[in-house]
Amino acid sequence: RILLTTVLDVSRENVKGIAMTVQDITREAELNEAKSQFISNVSHELRTPLFNIKSFIETLHEYGEDLSLDEQREFLETANRETDRLTRLVNDVLDLSKLESFKLYNFEAVDLAQPIEQTLRTYRLNARDKGIELIQEIEPNLPPVLGHYDLLLQVFTNLVGNALKFTETGGKVALRAYLLDSAAQNHQAKSPFLCPPPESCVTEDALGFRHVRIEVADTGIGIDTDDQYAIFDRFFRVENRVHTLEGTGLGLSIVRNIIEKHSSRAHLVSEPGVGTTFWFDLRVFQEGASADEVARRAQ
Ligand code: ADP
Repeated sequence: RILLTTVLDVSRENVKGIAMTVQDITREAELNEAKSQFISNVSHELRTPLFNIKSFIETLHEYGEDLSLDEQREFLETANRETDRLTRLVNDVLDLSKLESFKLYNFEAVDLAQPIEQTLRTYRLNARDKGIELIQEIEPNLPPVLGHYDLLLQVFTNLVGNALKFTETGGKVALRAYLLDSAAQNHQAKSPFLCPPPESCVTEDALGFRHVRIEVADTGIGIDTDDQYAIFDRFFRVENRVHTLEGTGLGLSIVRNIIEKHSSRAHLVSEPGVGTTFWFDLRVFQEGASADEVARRAQ
């Protein structure tokens, strides 16, 4: 789209000239459209649990005496679940908008073993209850990456949470981190699950940074090729799955956003019935290479 601005100097008797600016506002218009689409999606998503909560409370209030104790309890439990869903939604929306409004984060050296350990600690009980094996494969002597601890923790939490949600009893979920060098080729041969394609191993980028690859792999239900292209979009959820109450459809867009803040991209390989692996690369921390330094090198 083009915005035409014409400035006519009519203050004097004779018009001396016309100034005209031509501005391409395609990107701006796209962003505005995306924003209003987001707001309308959020409103719709918030309205559904609110409507449910109100209906259950109203019914209990008006007809509570006609209902059995079990029925009353069931209504209250449903209202409670819907309240939890509302809380998750509001938290996710806030996380996403916080992420979008912050431009510069304080990046530092992050020893990935720590957020990985913390994530696995969070989910260990849940995995045991579901009968899923949680595997941690961190290459020994892995160098620290340039990143933001809390944001990376959120990425691991969202990805491992999803992996556990969509994996059946007896399955496996692995969190791996390794340096992209010759070891990456060995890793490809050793790994028991789906792996990123080997040609995607770029050891050093144009700015001279080496990379650590992170994979969150599961042996779960997988994602159809047709759904993979939209999987990182806000509110996208694969249809016909029995997870109506648990998710918000925002987890992966938060993941994508955080990884992009780290100047990287989120990818996945998936095969229905075999499993899914989400993967991304992070820059190895170099002394003196802060976010400013990265921006300077990128110029
Ligand atoms: P949600 O809150 O619904 O989990 P996400 O953005 O995290 O939202 O995920 C979007 C959808 O992608 C999920 O609803 C699910 O259908 C699919 N998905 C995400 N991770 C996996 C996975 N590891 N295996 C299979 N499907 C997945």
